[in-house]
Amino acid sequence: MIILDNHFHVDPNNGIFLEAVKQFYRAGGTHLVVVYKSAHDYGFPGVRAEDFMKAMDFHVKLVEKINSETKVKAFAVVGVHPAEFDYLARNKGLEYAKNEVMKALEYAQKLCLEGKAIGIGEVGRPHYEVPQEIWEASIELMKYSMALAKDADCAVQLHTESFDEEKFRELGRYIKEVGIKPYRVVKHFSPPLVKVAKEVGVFPSIIASRKNIEEAIKQGNRFLMETDYIDDKKRPGAVLGPKTVPRRTKEFLQKGLFTEGDVYMIHVENPREVYGLELED
Ligand SMILES: [Zn+2]
Repeated sequence: MIILDNHFHVDPNNGIFLEAVKQFYRAGGTHLVVVYKSAHDYGFPGVRAEDFMKAMDFHVKLVEKINSETKVKAFAVVGVHPAEFDYLARNKGLEYAKNEVMKALEYAQKLCLEGKAIGIGEVGRPHYEVPQEIWEASIELMKYSMALAKDADCAVQLHTESFDEEKFRELGRYIKEVGIKPYRVVKHFSPPLVKVAKEVGVFPSIIASRKNIEEAIKQGNRFLMETDYIDDKKRPGAVLGPKTVPRRTKEFLQKGLFTEGDVYMIHVENPREVYGLELED
């Protein structure tokens, strides 16, 4: 059975890295979308575009290591986290930060075109209050990321503040404006608004808590599952652990909350639609 966690971080400096991947595998997980964390976490300053580029190369190497040293098949998503942009804008000025981040995002697109990554992310806007000008610039960068993903025909994973129906509709407007294929746009850390997401075209990646997934499957099976595992020894339990997606999937199948068809849709068909991946056991 194929089981994919759509948003998983690894961190060899602050976390347990391959051990977390092995835990995922032992619980029944087979495929991981491993999302870039931050330049700072990877040991780079995160001040110039080149720092982000080096951090993305480092991230790609981590994913290669997972593929060579474990039985899990991993795929990279690379970008600049909205909090990194916010930090840079406050310290070096908005224009400077925008410029450097745009160059870095272009590099993320290049990695997608070279087949080293399957998407740009996590990009978007901060989940906390920021000055208006930083908020607006973040939206511009989010649209720029979507435009780059559109040109490369790759996916984009969005990080945002907590979402509701109205915000999904706002996102739907940006998608139309940019002209990206809507199934390429993944809302990471999505609430279980499966119907609304389908209507606006966004692909929801839902945190695999029992409550969320129970609600999600009532609305349909057009979603991905994720933990947002952060791999940070200093923050245990800050998010779901690495075993959660396989455990939840099997639990739901056993309880009859998922059919075999749901599992196949969520873990094979939906990743194919979003990323163009052909996943095999
Ligand atoms: Zn994340």
